[in-house]
Amino acid sequence: MCGIFGITNSSKASFLTYIALYSLQHRGQESCGIAVFGKNGYKYYNSMGLVQEVFNSEILKMLEGEYAIGHVRYSTTGSSTITNSQPLFFRTKFGEFAVAHNGNIVNSEELKKELSKRGSIFQTTTDSEIIAHLISLSDRKDFVDALCDGLGKLKGAYSFLFLYQDCLICARDPWGFRPLVVGRKGDSFIFTSETCAIDCCGYEVYDEIFPGEIGIVKNGRYEKFKFKNVEKYFRCIFEQVYFARPDSLVCERTVFSSRYFVGKYLAEEYKVDADIVSGVPDSGVAYAIGYAQKSNMKFMPVFMKNHYSPRSFLQPNQDLREFIADLKLSPIKDNIKGKKIILIDDSLVRGTTSKKIISKLRSAGASRIYFLIGSPPVKGPCYYGIDTPTEKELIANKMDIDGIKKFIGVDDLYYVSIENLIRACGNGDRNFCTACFDKNYPVL
Ligand code: SF4
Repeated sequence: MCGIFGITNSSKASFLTYIALYSLQHRGQESCGIAVFGKNGYKYYNSMGLVQEVFNSEILKMLEGEYAIGHVRYSTTGSSTITNSQPLFFRTKFGEFAVAHNGNIVNSEELKKELSKRGSIFQTTTDSEIIAHLISLSDRKDFVDALCDGLGKLKGAYSFLFLYQDCLICARDPWGFRPLVVGRKGDSFIFTSETCAIDCCGYEVYDEIFPGEIGIVKNGRYEKFKFKNVEKYFRCIFEQVYFARPDSLVCERTVFSSRYFVGKYLAEEYKVDADIVSGVPDSGVAYAIGYAQKSNMKFMPVFMKNHYSPRSFLQPNQDLREFIADLKLSPIKDNIKGKKIILIDDSLVRGTTSKKIISKLRSAGASRIYFLIGSPPVKGPCYYGIDTPTEKELIANKMDIDGIKKFIGVDDLYYVSIENLIRACGNGDRNFCTACFDKNYPVL
């Protein structure tokens, strides 16, 4: 749960990186940082907090250079501290470089033990640092060859950015869990997690770095190549279900459209007599619009979202999550009182947030509540960089459907089928990881 961004050949590199990190803020809210390279070498600045709290015009002015990478972090491996904030910076036999990582390396403990035995001294507790040690210890003569050598030892999810002086390099793992896209404006290129960060800089979406590929920009020239041949890959489907921004493109379709099509499939799978269809803001709304259009029903908002409170899923402890969930949604009472309501949310994970949301609808006078979910029951934790709870905490592992209905207080509960979720998100592509729903983990 992180966002990465890199840019080349721009006189506004640090400013555009700042703007882009701001647009990727939904991917991580604990810490952020920017590293730049220019005629005076490297400059970098990392801190805990939100992008708008951390950076100001003076810091951005200090970050002078035409090449930059940036990172927003939510910790899934390693604690939430300034030492673990990224980009990380290293001095090696190949020279200096900065690195930013999105994902989770599943064999990190094993690799760390092995590297420590060979003399590596780790500065952080993140898994992201491992690649720097692997590069440094490689016997290859060239940085990119050493990188390929290092990547071959990693298992799990990684989209990496490297700022190697005036060369920007990216790599996406052979399973393809986390996204990595390319933007372009003239001879200036961007590598980033989501297309929304390309749009906000005024660049065009130019390419995607596919699983097992490395992208390089040097001297205004972009090239990419395979470091590993891949037959089947596993994009994280949860990116489209919940995590990514609705205006970002995945599988040549906006995330909004994927959710909208899931809503339409839900309407085909589950028909119910109700007065209105609504969605839990923000992500649930696209599903609800799809459902309402397909079933010729009226879409009405039932909650006002306070956009200035943090996302509950991103808060590290349960008390804070519940408190924030309570703050951020206010019922629109006139739209609720006496109504039979179909309410749609993207997913049902622990059930505690949904329970509170439903109780708000009840208090505002809803007569019946049909709760529809835009993904199948979440049954397994994620090992690839999305912070889902342990297996025991997942409500679908604790109760059957009737138990869940009773616990959250709804009249009926229905989940979309996995087939229709893949159909809606894939736009013809079926290369998805769906392990948190079916426990078919592609790599462990
Ligand atoms: S397990 Fe779930 S959240 Fe994790 S990568 Fe797979 S689909 Fe995404």
